[in-house]
Amino acid sequence: MRVCLAVFALLAAVHCEELFNGAQVLRIHVESEDHIQALKELEEDVDSVLDFWSHGFSTERPIDIRVPHTNLSAVKDFLKKNNVPFTVMINNVQELLEREKAEMVSNAKMERSTKSFNFAAYHDLETLYSFMDTLVASHPNLITKVHIGNSYENRPMYALKFSTGGVSRPAIWVDAGIHSREWVTQASAAWIANQIASNYGVDPSVTSLLGQMDIYLMIVTNPDGYVFTHTNNRMWRKTRSVNSGSSCRGVDPNRNWDAGFGGPGASKDPCSESYHGPYANSEVEVKNVVDLIMGHGNFKSFISIHSYSQLLMYPYGYTCTDIPDKSELHSVGTAAIKELTSLYNTIYQVGSICKIIYQASGGSIDWTYNIGIKYSFAFELRDTGYYGFLLPANQIIPTAEETWLGLKYIMEYVCNHPY
Ligand SMILES: [Zn+2]
Repeated sequence: MRVCLAVFALLAAVHCEELFNGAQVLRIHVESEDHIQALKELEEDVDSVLDFWSHGFSTERPIDIRVPHTNLSAVKDFLKKNNVPFTVMINNVQELLEREKAEMVSNAKMERSTKSFNFAAYHDLETLYSFMDTLVASHPNLITKVHIGNSYENRPMYALKFSTGGVSRPAIWVDAGIHSREWVTQASAAWIANQIASNYGVDPSVTSLLGQMDIYLMIVTNPDGYVFTHTNNRMWRKTRSVNSGSSCRGVDPNRNWDAGFGGPGASKDPCSESYHGPYANSEVEVKNVVDLIMGHGNFKSFISIHSYSQLLMYPYGYTCTDIPDKSELHSVGTAAIKELTSLYNTIYQVGSICKIIYQASGGSIDWTYNIGIKYSFAFELRDTGYYGFLLPANQIIPTAEETWLGLKYIMEYVCNHPY
């Protein structure tokens, strides 16, 4: 296996695409402490070949694991031997990837001939960046493109700033795609950027909001990872930085913030999907956002968009101790979800990261909350595990529409509750 990986690493350098023929995603239903122990054993033995799509083991929610074809029968035998119930969530990962790719190719052809951006499709980085330029050009008095720095592989990182004037107005931050494989988040953020732009001057609530506050929206927070999901490995989650002393690349950029850094729910193994990195803010993608937030000094809300699981969460992740503003954030979250659910009846849960999913350290919204940005939230968009990260493109617009309702509720609330 090791040899095979080394060979693969060489091929990856020349843009070989990783295939997932026969790989399955198993959905495991943990019912007892014995089951949890068995899973921990499995994780320790074969963490480097299994891809945990959900983190933390509990009886509260299912655990989804992508298993390569070669390990499939061994993993299934292990689960059966330990009486751990499971179902097959995705029968052949490669089949879904091929469908997704075919759709992208035919969409790109259509976009070239119509010269228009299709919000109901997934796009590569170049296309998303040119969409941003077009949007800025058509709303020059509302939107500017803020270059917040470059990524590890030297790609520019842009936030769209929606502002009607003023100096250092109170502001709201929204980011998507810090985990690169969560494609519905970048796609939804593009739709939302367009929605804000076209609602200004039309929707009284958006107009009033932008009369008082600025919105910063970062559509692709991990550009290197995003490019890699298109060129080499659709399942890539982390940054692409080189880890000294390891052949595994990348750091989990949502375990790299300076809040409980290195604590439970993050891995010290550079090969793990949740590797926290050598030190807090080691990832330039994280550092660039930290510098922008600190340099600005007047953010009132910070909202990070992930997928999947249909959750709206507030701090903390690194500890299950309640934050002082728990009851307010819980009620804002609950009301926001009520708006979100009203459109397509998509059911969400609300709670702190630690209590609703699992203890996870070094997350962005814990850091922003600790520096005084009270209204710090994280969304996990659709679905609850039918397609997971491979959500079909025909769900992008409905996902973005409902998310926008929840987001808008939070933004209005922040605007009406200055602090
Ligand atoms: Zn994520």
